[in-house]
Amino acid sequence: MTAFPLAPGAVIGLLGGGQLGRMLALAAARLGFDVAVLDPEPDAPAKRVAAHAIDGPYDAPDALRRLAAVSDVVTFEFENVPARAIEILAELGVEAAPSVRALAVAQDRLTEKSFLNEAGVPTVAFAEADGPGGIAAALERLGRPLLIKARRGGYDGKGQAWISHPREAEAVFAAVGAGPVIAEAPADFRRELSVIAARGRGGEIALYPLAENHHENGILRRTVAPAPASPATLAQVERITATVLSALDYVGVIGIELFERDDGRLLVNEFAPRVHNSGHWTLDGCEVDQFEQHVRAIAGWPLGPTDPIARVEMTNLLGDEADAWRRYAAEPETRLWLYGKREARPGRKMGHANRLSPLRP
Ligand code: AMP
Repeated sequence: MTAFPLAPGAVIGLLGGGQLGRMLALAAARLGFDVAVLDPEPDAPAKRVAAHAIDGPYDAPDALRRLAAVSDVVTFEFENVPARAIEILAELGVEAAPSVRALAVAQDRLTEKSFLNEAGVPTVAFAEADGPGGIAAALERLGRPLLIKARRGGYDGKGQAWISHPREAEAVFAAVGAGPVIAEAPADFRRELSVIAARGRGGEIALYPLAENHHENGILRRTVAPAPASPATLAQVERITATVLSALDYVGVIGIELFERDDGRLLVNEFAPRVHNSGHWTLDGCEVDQFEQHVRAIAGWPLGPTDPIARVEMTNLLGDEADAWRRYAAEPETRLWLYGKREARPGRKMGHANRLSPLRP
C-alpha cells in the first residue's frame, strides 16, 4: 500500500506519452518527482523528458509489470487506455488515479451520458443504436437531424456524422465505423465552454475559471479564458462539477465540456478523465496550472490556487503551423509550447501558443 502524500523522489507512472504526458512529466519534475512513461512509441514526446521509458502496448502484462515495478502511483494521459491495463496494475499492487471506473465511464459515450443523467446532470437527448435500423428508429423518436457518434474510440470529431433522413442510415452507420453508436439531438448551443477542475484525495475540489472553446473540423482550435459568465452560469458549473467528481469519487484533474444554450442552460457534452487541451491556457494564465494540479491531486498534496493571473487566448498549432515558431517566439505577449513531435501531419497537434493580455484591460 502506497502512503500518501507521496514525498518528492517518488515515481509517477504514466500510461501514454503524448503532449499531455509531456507537460505532466515537466510539472511532476518541478515538484521533485520522477516519471515513468509507458507508450508503444519509443520516441513519444513524454519519454524524452521522463526518467523512465517503457516501450510496449498498454495492456501487455510484461510492460505493465515493468511500469508497476518502478511506480508509486499510476495515471493516464488519454482515455483510450484499456481499462484492463488499470486492473492489471491494481493486481500488481499499484493504484491508478483517476480510478478505472472514471476511465470506463468516459470511454463509452452511451455509458457516459447515462451516468450523467442518472447523477442529475443534463445532456442532449440521446438514444442507443446498434445499426442502421436503430438509427432510423432514433430519428423517429428524437426528431431530426441527429448526430451519430461511435460509442467508443472517436476523438477530435472522428467517428461522427449528421443524419437527417432514414434513407441515409446505412451510409452514416458505415461512415462512423459500423460499430455500436449513440444518436444525439442537436445541442443548439450559443457557446462551447469547458471547465477544468480537480478533486484531491480528501475530497476537496478546485475549479478553474471557465474557458470558451472554438472548434474547426471537430478539432479544438482556440480557447479564450477566463470566459465571461453570469453568476447563474457559474452556479450551474459548480453544481455539475461537484456532482460528477463526487459521483465518481474522483482523484485528479478532469475536463468537462459544456454547451451553453440561448436560455443560459448548460448541458454536458462529455468529460475527459485527465488534463485537457482546453486547460492549456492555465499554464500561463493561472497561479497553479492544470498539470501541476493533477500531480498534486494524485500525489495527495494540497490542491493549489486556481486564480487567473492573465487573460489568455490559446491557439493550437496544427500540422505545419508550428513551423512559424520564430514568429511566435518573437512576440513578447506569447508563450510557446512545442511538443517535440517529429512529423507534422495535417491536423496533428504540434504545439500551442498562449497569447496573454491583462485580466482587466
Ligand atoms: P465530441 O467528440 O463529442 O467532443 O464532439 C466534437 C464537437 O462536435 C463538439 O465540440 C461540438 O462542436 C460538436 N458536437 C458534439 N455533440 C454535439 C451535439 N449533440 N450537437 C451539436 N454539436 C455537437
